[in-house]
Amino acid sequence: MIYDVLIIGAGITGTMTARCLAAYDCSVAVAEAGPDVAWEATRANSAIIHAGYDCVPGTVKAKMNVRGCAMMEEICRTLGVSYKKCGSHVVAFGEEDEATLRELYDRGIRNGVTGLRILTREELRQMEPNISEAATASLWAPGAGIVCPYGLAIAAAENAATNGVDFYFRFAVSGVRETDGYYTVSNGTDTICARRIVNAAGVSSADVAKMLGDEGLDVQITPRRGEYILMDKKCGGTVNSTLFAAPSAKGKGVLVARTVHGNLLIGPNANEVERGDTSVTAAGLAEITAGAKRLVPSVNPRQSITNFAGIRATPSTHDFMLFASEEKKGIIHAIGVESPGLASSPAVAEYIVQLLSEDGLILRKRENYIPTRRAEGNPKLFAEMTDEERAAAIAADPAYGRIICRCETVTEGDLLSAMHSPLPARDIDMLKRRTRAGMGRCQGGFCSPRAAALLAADQGTTLDHITKSGGGSWLVRKREDIVREVEDHA
Ligand SMILES: Cc1cc2nc3c(=O)[nH]c(=O)nc-3n(C[C@H](O)[C@H](O)[C@H](O)COP(=O)(O)OP(=O)(O)OC[C@H]3O[C@@H](n4cnc5c(N)ncnc54)[C@H](O)[C@@H]3O)c2cc1C
Repeated sequence: MIYDVLIIGAGITGTMTARCLAAYDCSVAVAEAGPDVAWEATRANSAIIHAGYDCVPGTVKAKMNVRGCAMMEEICRTLGVSYKKCGSHVVAFGEEDEATLRELYDRGIRNGVTGLRILTREELRQMEPNISEAATASLWAPGAGIVCPYGLAIAAAENAATNGVDFYFRFAVSGVRETDGYYTVSNGTDTICARRIVNAAGVSSADVAKMLGDEGLDVQITPRRGEYILMDKKCGGTVNSTLFAAPSAKGKGVLVARTVHGNLLIGPNANEVERGDTSVTAAGLAEITAGAKRLVPSVNPRQSITNFAGIRATPSTHDFMLFASEEKKGIIHAIGVESPGLASSPAVAEYIVQLLSEDGLILRKRENYIPTRRAEGNPKLFAEMTDEERAAAIAADPAYGRIICRCETVTEGDLLSAMHSPLPARDIDMLKRRTRAGMGRCQGGFCSPRAAALLAADQGTTLDHITKSGGGSWLVRKREDIVREVEDHA
């Protein structure tokens, strides 16, 4: 089969583009190197839907951010994804920072951001009682929001799959051949054919562009790591909105934010690292704790339940590069989609589809298009149901009455629903990202064995075949398998 469009990369850029294309009568495939969607930057970031005051006016980023932010609430509603328009403050500590706030305010006005205001110390304190005594003012952006970034990517991908988009996981595109008006991409063993290709490969996007034929492209992507601490839900009420320190040359600075699930998140820092280095360091955690405490002195790192890091794809051009290749017909690039790539994603997807259309892709609305994640609608987690909905769910399926993850109130019904979705969860981490089983205070200590047993039963296999995250990440091994492997390596 020759697809009309192949998207390389199932981060938020690729999945939102797949969702956008799925509304039209064309055949679409997504090739993703990882075992699931949202495998790189989309999995680990601040989750902020930025209002759009930070980007330099006139840049692609500025346009995409403001439009994406405006589109986000409706998309999340359609896909049943939690979204909160909680607003954000950029906090000043003295005159120099206050000058930065005025600069950001002016940028925001030029970018078309509405509702911006510079608040006095007293106004800020009224809205955020736990803010530092040293804070002197803030830039308030009521249009900013928060979302679950990987949850949004999973929802967009499920909607795309429901409407016929094919996903190829563990398919790292490593070569391309052009014949008779179409491309054949390969991962070394298998191939996918398509007339057009969208390069949405995140931190690898410049390399993928070169592989696709744009060898002369003058852009370098620098991987820049940001580390985070996620805190217990009992700290979630520490702030009411997202608090940023006034930005520096290195980025937007450390933030203190509530997550859509009610935890407190602090971070990130910004350090250049090797691609793929998502390790978390003691120095990094100390740096972000100090930055968070400067904003909110009561932040207590002892309430940490986990920490993680994400890699920004920082382009040497300092702007998103969204364009149709001049070298190769039918190739569209999304290169250097760093922050605010999440906030911008609906607009970026819309623009990529426009570029495809300008390239000749015929956009005819799909008959029987399903706007929700599944044909039967959007799944709702037991934890998010009302008492009446819970009673109805249990009556319809007793599996909803059996709690598997006590920290996050995830039921057997939730897990089974994720295992039978259009992009079925096949391992513990896929289940975790779709249902939150293992995301709570005990980080899966209680629920992982039960979730693994359910996966094994559902797949008609034994526990020793179930992995945390594919590959060799088995949870339990048979003694004879271990002995054989040791002998093989001897
Ligand atoms: C620390 C940090 C904080 C951030 N905070 C925010 C924020 O608060 N708000 C915001 O709007 N944005 C934020 N961002 C930016 C945002 O996360 C990114 O812009 C966005 O996730 C980029 O999505 P993407 O799909 O372009 O790239 P990615 O999510 O990186 O996806 C690219 C995908 O391509 C796949 N891939 C790569 N090479 C190949 C290949 N050869 N074949 C097949 N697949 C391949 C990868 O496995 C990956 O899954 C932040 C980023 C970081 C790292």
